[in-house]
Amino acid sequence: MSALSDRLLPWYRANRRALPWRRPDFGAWGILVSEFMLQQTPVTRVIPRLAQWLERWPHPADLATAPPAEAVREWANLGYPRRALWLHRAAVEIVERHDGTVPPDVDALLQLTGIGDYTARAVAVFAYGRRAPVVDTNTRRVIARAVHGRSQPGPAAKRDLDEMSALMPIDDDDAAVFNAAAMELGALVCIARTPRCEQCPLAEVCAWRAAGYPDTGDARPKQARYEGSDRQARGAVLRILRDADTDVPLTLIIPDWGDGAQRDRALLTLAADGLIEIDGDGARLPR
Ligand code: SF4
Repeated sequence: MSALSDRLLPWYRANRRALPWRRPDFGAWGILVSEFMLQQTPVTRVIPRLAQWLERWPHPADLATAPPAEAVREWANLGYPRRALWLHRAAVEIVERHDGTVPPDVDALLQLTGIGDYTARAVAVFAYGRRAPVVDTNTRRVIARAVHGRSQPGPAAKRDLDEMSALMPIDDDDAAVFNAAAMELGALVCIARTPRCEQCPLAEVCAWRAAGYPDTGDARPKQARYEGSDRQARGAVLRILRDADTDVPLTLIIPDWGDGAQRDRALLTLAADGLIEIDGDGARLPR
């Protein structure tokens, strides 16, 4: 094993969080849904919503036969609600193309709506034990620091996958664990602002630590403010429509919103994204 993996694997086995999607019986569908939810939302908010989702739609076919409006409604306040529609479309595609079973191959997963490089590989590796590099933002930060001596990773790129492939242990089972371990280290120890190097299994081999923690810059895109943003207005519109059983008159949708142009933009962009339907003087979630 490499210097990284022979330190990381035992650390992970002793310290990993008991997250629902890590249970051996969780299944590929549950893992796929969890990965959709975790793309932009913290673990603690995902766990209860995921449990509810899987209780209601335990298989792709269950979600595929539900109206898209129900997916948007059940998504509730997880944020970035287009993921709910994409997940619904992916469920339909899984039924149509794969007989209702989440496919195990990265290439087939990449053909599904809403699934990119990260999610396709995460499902193939964590649900089916396939050998592939799984690289999220936590993994990229660990590699940037421990291997390259940089304070933060550069922009995400295809070369991240090649690099992770080169670091993975030869044994396929160990490689799967190594993927999860690098992510977990970035989530719990090698965190963005104040890494907990005194708890880190890589401390003795970390290039950034050895170099004295130089500030090599931070090219990560800044997260836009939510307060006052179009996202906030879109969230307010969706909240009203999620709670309604029938069409809601446009005049009753956030009528007192401070910025009228922003309110109109929220309605128009939600309709363009397929998250709502505007019909005459009313609006509703998609049927
Ligand atoms: S020693 Fe510190 S900076 Fe290096 S990988 Fe560990 S937590 Fe990150």
